[in-house]
Amino acid sequence: MTANSTVLSVQDLSAYYYTLNGWVRAAESVTFDVEMGQAMGLAGESGCGKTTVAMSLLKILPRGGRIRKGKIIFDGEDLVPLSENEMRKRRWKGISIVFQGAMSAFNPVYKVGDQIAEAIKTHESGVSKADVEERIAKLLETVGIEPSRADNYPHEFSGGMRQRALIAMALAANPKMLIADEPGTALDVIVQAQTLKLLRDLKDRLGLSMIMISHDLSIIAETCEKVAIMYAGRIVEYGDAVSIFKNPMHPYTQGLIKAFPSIKGERVRLTSIPGTPPDLIHPPPACRFNPRCPYVMDICKKIDPQLVEHGEKNHLAACHLY
Ligand code: SF4
Repeated sequence: MTANSTVLSVQDLSAYYYTLNGWVRAAESVTFDVEMGQAMGLAGESGCGKTTVAMSLLKILPRGGRIRKGKIIFDGEDLVPLSENEMRKRRWKGISIVFQGAMSAFNPVYKVGDQIAEAIKTHESGVSKADVEERIAKLLETVGIEPSRADNYPHEFSGGMRQRALIAMALAANPKMLIADEPGTALDVIVQAQTLKLLRDLKDRLGLSMIMISHDLSIIAETCEKVAIMYAGRIVEYGDAVSIFKNPMHPYTQGLIKAFPSIKGERVRLTSIPGTPPDLIHPPPACRFNPRCPYVMDICKKIDPQLVEHGEKNHLAACHLY
């Protein structure tokens, strides 16, 4: 780990998918850091590359997916050159992920406790039965579930409980970092708020570092210290969450913020961003947002804007307006 407590440093990471029509440039030149005990939000419309980035960090890209370049320095070590065997030792223990869709993540024919036990035993050999049971009880308690419910089957849990049990399972091997992919999506707003509160608590209580992936900016605003806004495979704005939500610089971030209702703020008319995200096999030249941007200029189609600090410290944007 580096001196400033950066637990994860992603540097110039590109991940593509091979298709019969060509390479889909799903994530390109992605660079960000996550500090120890802090949460970073990865936000953007669906298909912007945020889940590709998450899967790249764990090196679990689906068939056809490949990390083309870049570094993933986790706890002082670059994960990119590691073999599958070496990665297996770092998943769950180092970085763990909670995928969206708590319904399908559990096997319906096994008890919840047995599935958590399996996760513990897979990542730690030689743990006694009594230890495993104690750990399951503790994990369930940590996420606010009565330990006796370990004997229940997944269908006996409510949606919110299943989501919490999934978080407990992700914590089975005491990871340093947790990635939550669209936490609480498909749950009602009250249960979603409880899930977010739990994640915030875990971050504070366990000192976990987190990456929160969401298309919903209000979720990120409530939980993260830092945010990276992704558009068409690239980070277009990055830095301190308060600064970005207060003073969004990139026209895409401005559009995203206008497209989401604020839970606490005053009522405003929501507007959507005109147009659709581009084809990532043949993305638009230079600034990928140029076909949808209300401020587009000639230079935007010729020169790629770089992600740099404009004025405020720890607030970077990739846009020729600045
Ligand atoms: Fe719009 Fe140009 Fe900025 Fe891209 S670089 S967001 S097209 S103003």
